Amino acid sequence: MKAVAVKPGTANSAHLVEVDKPTAVDVQDGRGVLVEVLRVGACGTDREINNAEYGTAPDGEDYLILGHENLGRVVEVGKNVTELEAGNYVVATVRRPCGSSVYDKIGAQDFTTDTEYFERGVSRLHGYMTEYFVEDAEFLIKVPAAIAEVGVLLEPLSIIEKGLKQASDIQERMKIWRPKTAAVLGTGNVGLLTVMALRMRGYSVHGFGREHREGYLNSELCEAIGATYDSTAEISVEQSTEKYGQYDLVFECTGFSPIIFDAMQSLNENGILILASVTGGDRRTDQVPSDKISQMFVLGNRAMVGTVNAGREHFEMGVKDLALCEAMHPGWLGRMLTHRIDGLENFAKAFDILNNSGKHKAIKTYFEVKPF
Ligand code: BGC
Repeated sequence: MKAVAVKPGTANSAHLVEVDKPTAVDVQDGRGVLVEVLRVGACGTDREINNAEYGTAPDGEDYLILGHENLGRVVEVGKNVTELEAGNYVVATVRRPCGSSVYDKIGAQDFTTDTEYFERGVSRLHGYMTEYFVEDAEFLIKVPAAIAEVGVLLEPLSIIEKGLKQASDIQERMKIWRPKTAAVLGTGNVGLLTVMALRMRGYSVHGFGREHREGYLNSELCEAIGATYDSTAEISVEQSTEKYGQYDLVFECTGFSPIIFDAMQSLNENGILILASVTGGDRRTDQVPSDKISQMFVLGNRAMVGTVNAGREHFEMGVKDLALCEAMHPGWLGRMLTHRIDGLENFAKAFDILNNSGKHKAIKTYFEVKPF
């Protein structure tokens, strides 16, 4: 069967490989599930891996099969799998417990303290840009057929769900936290899913992107779900608080690190800033009003937290938000699926879109590996 792989460390090395089809018995204890891949999302992490900025091949191999945003259909289950059956739609989680940290041992590998982590399609484990994969049932999340069409958005959404769970856990430091307003920095695919998840929780949401509002699909989607959209070319996040007030929660997903200092200054008392961009560059920021920021955080009990990856519970939260969104705003999620690539063999097209997303006006680029 076909798969899209890279040689980590070599730029633009994406190529097709031919690999053996796995079987359910490849997983121990009868817990294996054979999944046929229907859709695989392509994102900035895949772009960075193909640009040799990130990513590691499995031990002893010189290539890595890409793909971590996935949706598939169960073909066959091992004898000890009771929670899934052939025909079910599933999404697989990404990180696996292989490390030595206590978090890996308790099934919370998304909190691993090991610097060598194991993520399918990213680090040390092959991913889902292929035709079939086998996985332990433990790492598969069932997706109702009614939302299978948009199920490929579940993995990126799981990252946001984890961030929001961290925020609510941290805010338990106060007896009462009733957040009302949120700013979302970045309105690409992750940003729009964040806008959605916060709207599903009833927040007044203010989205910020670089592009001008007029004629921009992403701004239209913000507004269609009841959020505002402002271009940071016209107004800074901090300046926006004159219009909207300070925010109880700010979610950063632009990939542009200097904006976090602006975000810190736009938080309400007791507010929380969530950082979710993996900023691999080496940008430095001068002229940060550090006294002001420090004093705001101290006197206002403000908090900031970084978040990466997601566990099973965050995927399960994501399934509920996708279903609620589809019920409240039918078709909204589907509008995010802007660029479909038919067949893995057309991988070059996917990387062209990822490398020039402004030109292509892409929100979510994904492979249709097999039609539904
Ligand atoms: C993936 C996460 C992963 C992170 C860091 C993201 O693109 O969605 O699952 O943990 O990259 O590798």
